[in-house]
Amino acid sequence: MAGMLYLVPTPIGNLGDISDRARKTLEEADFIAAEDTRVSLKLLNHLGIKKSLISYFEHNKAFKGNIILERILAGETCALVSDAGSPAISDPGEDLVKLCHENGVTVCAIPGPCAVITALSISGQATGRFCFEGFLSTAKKSRKAHLEDLKDERRTMIFYEAPHKLVATLEDMAEAFGEDRPISLCRELTKLHEEVVRTTLGEAIAKYTENPPKGEFVLVLAGAPEKEETVPTEADAATRVRQLMEEGLSRKDAVKQTAKELNLPKNVVYDAALNMEE
Ligand code: SAM
Repeated sequence: MAGMLYLVPTPIGNLGDISDRARKTLEEADFIAAEDTRVSLKLLNHLGIKKSLISYFEHNKAFKGNIILERILAGETCALVSDAGSPAISDPGEDLVKLCHENGVTVCAIPGPCAVITALSISGQATGRFCFEGFLSTAKKSRKAHLEDLKDERRTMIFYEAPHKLVATLEDMAEAFGEDRPISLCRELTKLHEEVVRTTLGEAIAKYTENPPKGEFVLVLAGAPEKEETVPTEADAATRVRQLMEEGLSRKDAVKQTAKELNLPKNVVYDAALNMEE
């Protein structure tokens, strides 16, 4: 019988956040695949669990993924853990899950600590609709393209970021979204120095340029505000027709162009222009 892959979330700072089910899964798995075996060993020691560990990280994932798959297909159960939080969210677990699905292996995700959801819920930003954007690329061109893509995004946007890149990221965000865009900077979640700074991009840049940031951050950025739709009035239409006629257009062409520009029926624009002349 084939084994299974369990995705086991681990605390993002507070060891008390490990659930009974997560602990039990780690105890019962045949082996544990870990992003950094030294980090996971500390957690296992804390939990009093002795288990065989295999490393699975960004630079060995292609090779190790196949070894893990073979062991699962041979009947073993594997528990996958990342350094902290939910495996497969902005860490190499994503590829192993895909590999398992492609090979008919059952994947079971245990719910638990996850930085993106913890940050969103504490952020004070709108939570009804949101999108997770992960880490921005370190390459200037692709980060700008990524942010440019999000320019008109109305949903709350969530980003992961390392402290040493925070100010540069905030500056790129201010360029794309404007300095006044609200943002919540969620730092050291579930830890002793947990902090949520609700501010604007411009103020965040000033704050962290003066006091270089420390710790882990999730950035929760407000979506673009709703654009106020202004309905053109008859007077707007008539004024625009007159303006275009003064520029040399015939009345017919001025009406046609105004109707197009203001998205109004031509007869409405024509009547408005006549009314004003009268
Ligand atoms: N898979 C994990 C999850 O979703 O929970 C996240 C892994 S990702 C490699 C690590 C990033 O998560 C950090 O750079 C930071 O942005 C965020 N993060 C993790 N723990 C955090 C914490 N306690 N407080 C704030 N951000 C945290």
